[in-house]
Amino acid sequence: IKNSRTQESVSYEGNETKKGTGETLSYETSKDIEVPERLIDQIIGQEEAVETIKKAAEQRRNVLLIGEPGVGKSMLAKAMAELLPREQLQDILVYPNIEDPNNPLIGAVPAGEGRKIVMNHKNKARSQDEKKNLFMMLIISFILVLGFMMNQFLAAIIAAGIIFLALQQFRPRTTVMVPKLLVNNEGRQVAPFVDATGAHAGALLGDVRHDPYQSGGLGTPAHERVEAGMIHKANKGVLYIDEIGTMKMKTQQELLTAMQEKRYSITGQSETSSGAMVRSQAVPCDFVLVASGNLQVLEGMHPALRSRIRGYGYEVFMKDTMPDTPENRDKLVQFVAQEVEKDGRIPHFSREAVEEIIREAQRRAGKKDSLTLKLRELGGLVRAAGDIAKSRGAELVETEDVIEAKKLSRTLEQQIADRYIVQKKKYSVFKSEGGEVGRVNGLAIIGDRSGIILPIAAEAAPAQSKEEGRIIATGKLGEIAREAVQNVSALIKKYTGTDISNYDIHIQFLQAYDGVEGDSASVSVATAVISALEEIPVDQSVALTGSLSIRGDVLPVGGVTGKIEAAAEAGIRKVLIPASNMGDVMIEKKYEDMVEIVPVETLGDVLEHALIGKGKESLIQRMQKISDIVPSIMKKP
Ligand code: ADP
Repeated sequence: IKNSRTQESVSYEGNETKKGTGETLSYETSKDIEVPERLIDQIIGQEEAVETIKKAAEQRRNVLLIGEPGVGKSMLAKAMAELLPREQLQDILVYPNIEDPNNPLIGAVPAGEGRKIVMNHKNKARSQDEKKNLFMMLIISFILVLGFMMNQFLAAIIAAGIIFLALQQFRPRTTVMVPKLLVNNEGRQVAPFVDATGAHAGALLGDVRHDPYQSGGLGTPAHERVEAGMIHKANKGVLYIDEIGTMKMKTQQELLTAMQEKRYSITGQSETSSGAMVRSQAVPCDFVLVASGNLQVLEGMHPALRSRIRGYGYEVFMKDTMPDTPENRDKLVQFVAQEVEKDGRIPHFSREAVEEIIREAQRRAGKKDSLTLKLRELGGLVRAAGDIAKSRGAELVETEDVIEAKKLSRTLEQQIADRYIVQKKKYSVFKSEGGEVGRVNGLAIIGDRSGIILPIAAEAAPAQSKEEGRIIATGKLGEIAREAVQNVSALIKKYTGTDISNYDIHIQFLQAYDGVEGDSASVSVATAVISALEEIPVDQSVALTGSLSIRGDVLPVGGVTGKIEAAAEAGIRKVLIPASNMGDVMIEKKYEDMVEIVPVETLGDVLEHALIGKGKESLIQRMQKISDIVPSIMKKP
């Protein structure tokens, strides 16, 4: 084994020795770091997207941002609003239409003018009212005086009352004339940013309220019931819609019309409401659309809307990791400072604590030499660590606070994974010691990056049908198992000399969870099947992960860090991972002494480490004869 690199078991070295977190910035605490003022300069790691947004802002183009949650899509949209020119901002007024009350009129004036106009109208109406009051008082006093002089007291009071009521009736007419300020941009420093994510049609496109008293002249005039939609509030600014594909097709269609026309009438959205009778003049809605979502969202997106964006704008695919370079680590330092300032309530971070955050960013990237850009989650960690430091009255967040915070801010999936391990161990669904035939501790990923033990059991029996054996796979991941066995059947034949078509092979993923990612289980499936066919026990203190090529090479898989940590938690002592994944290993310090990590390159390597007991030697010997496909085994002394 000695001269084969892959046969050496390499125990994991700590991050410190392998990868530094050294930045080039000189600082003692995150307080020393200057946070840029503009939002666009606060966005880190998304250089391409930032360039596109700058260009789009200049030209007022629409943008479609595709990417994972929490990588800065809404932040980019907000930053774009900051970049748009603000001189053009408008206030929008809605006026009564005397000729056709159900078609209120619309007026647009420069920002800040709207409120003045409404005030003027109100003042005018008030002075008219005052005049009318004076006039009324005069008439009433005149009648009373007349009655007094003619000794007709009662009649005079009655007459005064009737006149009072009659004049009251005319009153509303004057107030009706006051326009309503539909969109107010007074004093606004930057172009509006309106987040319309999940908005229903009324909120998005505007609405006219129902009026139960509309007949009989007692009701609220139509123009006062008109409400602006988000598309109108976003006029001359940015309309941001996340998860655009979940919006109803009809609404998307209307949104498209609004984008094309740059103006859109407001009408009551509910057909049974009296608001539906009202339809305003077209209201300006000259917004820039920033839509976002993940790749699947594209499926739910109206094709015409997508093509509109493509034709009059840009599409950007956001990154979720960036290379682990000193410059990029510096950016994460800036990020920590930013998040602290933004929160406003937590203390700044010591240099060591910042470095712990950077290490976590390396771990969360889940692949070699990368830093995660899922910064919403990382920001959550910053805040949690800040809260802990604050609760102990500290002036600075220290490394221990970050480590403590990682424990507290575990995701749901991590919590499920932990509970799963405890439970499964209790009911011995999997074992972490001894040997078992046909039983393998596979490793899988649940959620984003939480590892989980995926016990696999295989059973081989002589085929019932004469022509051919069957592969019977049960459990939630049956399809994957069947495929894995089919892919490796040639391999098994070559490795063991056994033709699996003489057998019925049963495979089960024991109590697999919903949402468990299982395609990295083919190495485990193959091992379980070989163990069952040859009746050679598998070492239960070993767990494995890896994808198998049809030639017998072990191919890289995702989430090795989470998987190794889960195995360590479960009391497993040795984990076999694809050799090409070794650089992705970023396990927590506390696990380093708990497990041995063994890189494997071929199925031969796997069997060498996973199988134990009598039959193993003879199997290996048989395998040695097949030098062409397992060269690494042949180097055995
Ligand atoms: P998304 O819209 O992609 O889901 P957000 O823009 O809402 O993500 O990001 C949430 C928060 O995470 C932001 O307010 C910011 O604090 C942080 N964040 C996310 N991405 C970045 C980034 N690229 N640069 C700096 N901070 C970021």
